[in-house]
Order: sequence, then structure tokens, then C-alpha cells
Amino acid sequence: MAARRLLWQIYPAYLLITALSLAAVGWYASREAREFYLAQTAADLEARARLVEGRLGALLPPDGGADAPALDAECKRLDRAAATRITVILPDGRVAGDSEERPAAMANHADRPEVRAALSGRTGLATRHSETLGEDMMYVAVPLEAGGRGAGAVRTAVPLTHINRALRVIYLQIGLGGLAVALLAAGAGLVVYRRMSRPLEEIRLGAERLARGDLATRLTVSDSGEAARLAEALNRMAERLRRLETVRQEFVANVSHELKTPITSIKGFVETLLDGAAENPEDARKFLEIVARHADRLNSIIGDLLLLSRIEEGGDRPLELGEVPLRDVLRAAVEACAAKTGAKGVAVYLDCPNELTVRASPPLLEQAVVNLIDNAVKYSEPGSPIHVEGCAEVGGGAAVAVRDRGQGIAPEHLPRLGERFYRVDKARSRQAGGTGLGLAIVKHIAQAHGGRVSVESRVGEGSVFRIHLPGGG
Ligand code: ADP
Repeated sequence: MAARRLLWQIYPAYLLITALSLAAVGWYASREAREFYLAQTAADLEARARLVEGRLGALLPPDGGADAPALDAECKRLDRAAATRITVILPDGRVAGDSEERPAAMANHADRPEVRAALSGRTGLATRHSETLGEDMMYVAVPLEAGGRGAGAVRTAVPLTHINRALRVIYLQIGLGGLAVALLAAGAGLVVYRRMSRPLEEIRLGAERLARGDLATRLTVSDSGEAARLAEALNRMAERLRRLETVRQEFVANVSHELKTPITSIKGFVETLLDGAAENPEDARKFLEIVARHADRLNSIIGDLLLLSRIEEGGDRPLELGEVPLRDVLRAAVEACAAKTGAKGVAVYLDCPNELTVRASPPLLEQAVVNLIDNAVKYSEPGSPIHVEGCAEVGGGAAVAVRDRGQGIAPEHLPRLGERFYRVDKARSRQAGGTGLGLAIVKHIAQAHGGRVSVESRVGEGSVFRIHLPGGG
């Protein structure tokens, strides 16, 4: 259907262009052929006139009269030999000899344009209707000389019907040639179209399979060129869609699982309370506290998910970044964590040059640093120190480092840390109130700034998480 439409879009235009160009070439060729043929005929007539002129001049009667039977007879003989009408005209316009008529019966020819030209010493050419013969003729007249003086004119003529017949043959040949070329071009056009449209048709079928959700489809186009590149691009798109689909499915499964655990607990404890546990005030209080903790947990997970989706939404349009003093952002982050660090009895040391600035969105960057400090607190023993440092990087840009002397992370986990809901030690993360989304948020914030996150860690010694921000440019 779509292929038909492409054909009907291209093909008529192609045929029209071909037909128009052939018509233009044909018209031009016919015109040139006609002009060439007429010029050739005129030249031919002139040559014949000059050829017979000497011989006819010798036959002119010495008295200058028009009565010249020998001359007239010679004209008639020459016509039979050359298939050309020959007329001899005297200076006063009287006809002394003619190959087709009796001279005495012919009108005075002094007024004929070609004769006038010849009588005044030039070659005359004219095409017109002959009254003598009753048909259209081409005439050429040249001066006739006898004894070194002008003695009249010799005129040769052929009927235009001869010329037209010859021209019709030429036109027919041009027309037939053009028709043959047009047919060839139309056929070649169809062949080329087929070759172009077949790979497109294959790609269309493949794209429709993709659109129906068959993401395992792979398009193959044998020959190279645009169609093959289009197929490759579609294959890459399908590959990407497949990956996104997997990520999406995993994400939905993870979110459901993460939300289900606290909800199941809440439901269980509430039911226990309803079943009578509420009567014992001590139990009631304990269970309600557990319910409250799980509700907090749900709240944090949903808060983190919303934050992530907000950062991702902004993925298409760039963040509004401003040049801000890094030290201010780091201090705000440390202060925001004061309650947690104080409760656990860990000391936080801030080290950042006053004049160092970064291009950043302050609330987002602060959120990322808060998450890192939060983790450092969660995965360290009470009393161990945490260092928050800001420094310029070699080659431009700046880095924020959060360093702890906590439990550390085994190397095999490091590559997966930025994944949503990825945790090294599930139980410990849960117990510490982690959502498994903290580092994913840090990673996304760094990327939204055009930067990245790196980590160094040793089990039992501690970890350093760094946010690298590119230099302003
Ligand atoms: P969570 O909410 O579980 O802390 P994160 O995304 O912040 O989730 O971190 C993912 C996992 O990375 C954590 O569960 C923890 O196992 C590990 N992790 C993160 N930061 C540290 C750290 N400073 N020290 C040790 N382990 C860490």
C-alpha cells in the first residue's frame, strides 16, 4: 500500500520529465534538421544553376530576343536529367526558356524576388506558390552572363512537396527514436524503482513487527546504501528498546517488592492489634512503633522515587546551573545531617577552599552530598570520623569527596552500586533505614551536572565516594 503510493509519487513525475525532455530534444532536432535540409536544398539548387549557366548563356539568341527554341529545348532536356525545373529569364523579365512550360505562354518574371536579386548580380532565394505549376516551390536564381556581360538570370526550382516528403521521413525517424528511448527509460525507471523499493518494503515489514512489540526482530538488508543504514538504525533502536524494557520490568518488580515488605508488616501488626494485642498497653505501644517505622520507610522510598523521577524528567532540558561557592553547599549538607551524625556520635570534618566555585544547582548538589554523608554514617561504627572535602581537579572542574572509616565494600559490588535498590547487605541497609536508592540519586544528580561518581573502598578500612563536576566552559 505504502509502496504503491511511493511508486505513484515518483513514477509519473519521472515519466513526465522524460517525455518533456524527449519532446524538447525532438522539437529542436526536427527544427535543426529542417533548416539544414532547406539550406542544403538551396545550396544544391544554386550549384545546379551555376552548373548549367554557362551552357545556357551560350544558347542565348544574339539578337537579345525571347524567341530561343534551342535554349528552351536545352532547358527541357536538362530537367529530365536533373529532375529540376530550369527557367531562363532575360534582363527585361521575359522568359526565354523553361523546362515545364512554353516561354511565350508565361508571364513576365521581372517582379519575382529571386529574379530581381539575380538581375542585380546576387543570388536570389524564395519559397512560394507557383502560378505556372500550381504548387509550392523553392526557387534559386543566379545571374546569367554572356560575352562577359549580364544577360539575365538562370533559375532552378524544386516543388516543396519533395522537400516536405523528405522532411516527413526525417521527422518520423526522430519520433520513432524518441519513442524507443521513452520506452527504454520507462522500463529502466521501473527496474530501478523495484530495486529501491524492495529493501524499503522489507524494512517496513520489520518496523511493523517492531511496532507490534516483537522486539526480537532483526532486520537484514543485503545490499549496502541508505536502506541498509536505515535497517541498522532500526536494529539499534530495537536493541535499545529491548534493554529499556528489561530495565523497566526489573524496576517495576523491585519497586513492588520494596513497597510490599513494609506494607505486609504494617498489615500484620495492625491485625495483631485488632485481634486483642491492643488491650495490653505495652504491646500496643511496641507494635504501633513498628508500624510507624514501616510507614516512615514507605515514605522514604516514595520520596526517593519521586526525587529520582524529577531528576530524570529534567534529563532532556539542561538544569539551571549557577556559579556557586562549593564550600557553602558542603556546609549546608553537613548541617542537614547534624541530627544523624550527632545521634551516632560521629564527627564530620569539612575541608574546602573558600574561593572554589562550581557550576551547579545548589539544592540538588546538596542532596547528593547529604546522601553520601548519610551512607558514611550508616555504614560506620559510632565514633569514627567522616571527612567531607572539596577540591579543584587537575584539568578543570572540581570534586567533592566523602571519606569514611567504616566497613568498606568488597570490590565485586563496586560496579553495581549506582543501580536502584542494589544493596551489599540487605539486612543492614534496611535496619539503618536505607531505601537502596541513595547512590542511584547521587549518580543521576552527578550526570545531570555533566559529571560522574567514582568510589574507592577497602573492606574493613573505609570508603571514599567522589562526585566529579566538569569545569565551566
Ligand atoms: P541504601 O539506602 O541501602 O544505603 P544506597 O544506594 O545509598 O542505598 O547504597 C547502596 C549500597 O551501597 C548500600 O546498601 C550499602 O551496602 C553500600 N554502601 C553505600 N555507601 C556505603 C559506605 N559509605 N560504606 C559502605 N557501604 C556503602
